[in-house]
Amino acid sequence: MNIDLSSLSNYMLILTAWAGAFLAALWLSLIFWVYRDIRLRSRDVFMRILAILVTAILFLPGVVVYLILRPARTLEEEYQQTLEEEALLQAIEDVQLCPGCGRRVKEVWQVCPNCHTKLKKPCHVCGRLMELPWNLCPYCGTPAPGMRREGMTMDEALRSIPVEMVETPKEAEGSPAVEETPLEVPGEEVAGDHQ
Ligand SMILES: [Zn+2]
Ligand SMILES: [Zn+2]
Repeated sequence: MNIDLSSLSNYMLILTAWAGAFLAALWLSLIFWVYRDIRLRSRDVFMRILAILVTAILFLPGVVVYLILRPARTLEEEYQQTLEEEALLQAIEDVQLCPGCGRRVKEVWQVCPNCHTKLKKPCHVCGRLMELPWNLCPYCGTPAPGMRREGMTMDEALRSIPVEMVETPKEAEGSPAVEETPLEVPGEEVAGDHQ
């Protein structure tokens, strides 16, 4: 009887030690898992410490509480979603609408064909289309007529425009007048019929 009792208590002791070790290992690994998880989900140091403390103190119920309260998305997922939202916004902004009638217009149109609202203006030097508020051609750097860059006098602004574009090309004087080709008189004179 004594032997049986002592061996039973030995078994109980081993079982308890095993269970204790298992629980301790589980406790530590849960803390470690929460630490890794919250690190992916929050940059806030206070949040991280709180999550670990809740798990360490409450053990399994603490993990449940953590799972309920943790941020739904990881930082990586949030970043991806921000990128997607920006791409969507960009796509929406890319659809150009006429400010006059609200219809879709193409990027290369100067005037809305529906309501005749001016949409773009061509650079007077390189001819590419500029937005209406721009006062400087982004392609060739020419100031739009009547506009000047900061710290630039009007003369300087105009000087950067090629001269032949500023001055209206005059007609070359003394150009040969259009020569009128004299009507050719039929060379064959009517030969008098002398018979
Ligand atoms: Zn329009
Ligand atoms: Zn230009």
